Amino acid sequence: TYVIAQPCVDLKDKACVDECPVDCIYEGPRKMYINPDECVDCGACEPVCPVEAIFYEDSLPDELAAYAAVDREFFAAD
Ligand code: SF4
Repeated sequence: TYVIAQPCVDLKDKACVDECPVDCIYEGPRKMYINPDECVDCGACEPVCPVEAIFYEDSLPDELAAYAAVDREFFAAD
């Protein structure tokens, strides 16, 4: 899955939402979230993010690695 990390916090540009073919990017209180159960790993969202907040899960820089769990937990309550 792809993950939306810290640069999105309090920004929520949402350019990614229009690119996602399966509409799996959702708005949260402070950032956008990718539902890991719905993401098809197409990568379309990554290059359109103006602040480069989107990473493939395994490619997250070390300082942003925690965001994989942040996105997963956002949907865990469903
Ligand atoms: Fe949507 Fe593709 Fe981005 Fe996954 S990688 S969130 S399916 S645009």
